[in-house]
Amino acid sequence: MDVQEVYQWLEEVKDPEIPTVSLLDLGVITGIEVNEDGHITVNMTPTFAGCPAMDYMKENVEQVLQEKGVASFTVEMNFDRQWSSNNITEKGRQAIKAFGLAPPPRHQLIVDIDMLKKVACPFCESTNTALKSPFGPTLCRSLHYCHNCRQAFEQFKPV
Ligand SMILES: [Zn+2]
Repeated sequence: MDVQEVYQWLEEVKDPEIPTVSLLDLGVITGIEVNEDGHITVNMTPTFAGCPAMDYMKENVEQVLQEKGVASFTVEMNFDRQWSSNNITEKGRQAIKAFGLAPPPRHQLIVDIDMLKKVACPFCESTNTALKSPFGPTLCRSLHYCHNCRQAFEQFKPV
């Protein structure tokens, strides 16, 4: 198999909390290598430190490799590089929105409180929204309310 094929396999592995987004589009899978012996190395960077979903994601990646009959592989969790929500691909952003979550805004590595306040509603695009809580049901999300369509929504927090 080649690297492209492995990328296709791993496209099947979705975020456990947002099943429309693959880990590749989330930017969590940061590298795939296939060496001459057919050994596959997958590098992953965790999204949020202490995110309990990470172990689950890693197991899902291992499971897909096993199902594809890969005899020898390593899935490495890499904590050296910090994940940023800027790593989410455009396809990933659309998928987050399709799930009913506001995608994180792209930023210049500084996240300020305004970014959490002026969030476009994923349902009607209005920015007439209010931050209800910087901490949603999971660490990775903030809670908002849209004054335009009068619906509560969550944002995937920029980091
Ligand atoms: Zn709205």
